[in-house]
Amino acid sequence: MTYVVIEACIKCKYMDCIEVCPVDCFYEGENMLVINPDECIDCGVCEPECPVEAIQPDTEKGLEKWLELNRSLSAEWPNITRKGEAPADADNFKDEKDKFDKYFSKYPAKRERQRLIGAILVRLCRSRIGRPLPKCNITRDSAANL
Ligand code: SF4
Ligand code: SF4
Repeated sequence: MTYVVIEACIKCKYMDCIEVCPVDCFYEGENMLVINPDECIDCGVCEPECPVEAIQPDTEKGLEKWLELNRSLSAEWPNITRKGEAPADADNFKDEKDKFDKYFSKYPAKRERQRLIGAILVRLCRSRIGRPLPKCNITRDSAANL
């Protein structure tokens, strides 16, 4: 058995669950979290922390899709161990239905995208050492919006 994060987390991402996990097995996407089922030790302490009941044991009926999503996305998204800021409009979405179809994002947390972009820029700069530098229009603000 493991615990999984389900649809209710999408666009809410309150993050009350993160700091109670003894094995740090939460991973952060653009607008939700997932649990790595292979790291979760089934202690269950995160389940009552979630204000929208988005954490469920995978023994509940109909969660096969969510178990698979938690497994695959936790392999791609960055690990998160500290509670961050919930989205400012999280409360507007906490009772909404069908959030997966409307808002699901497969992308990792924005900070991970920025880290990857930074790594690519560093690599590009290194490969250009000794050559004339190209004109670059990327600013800190425009990179943050990529
Ligand atoms: S507490 Fe619930 S809504 Fe908040 S991030 Fe964790 S699973 Fe998502
Ligand atoms: S059940 Fe325990 S180990 Fe699994 S995610 Fe929740 S707090 Fe972490």
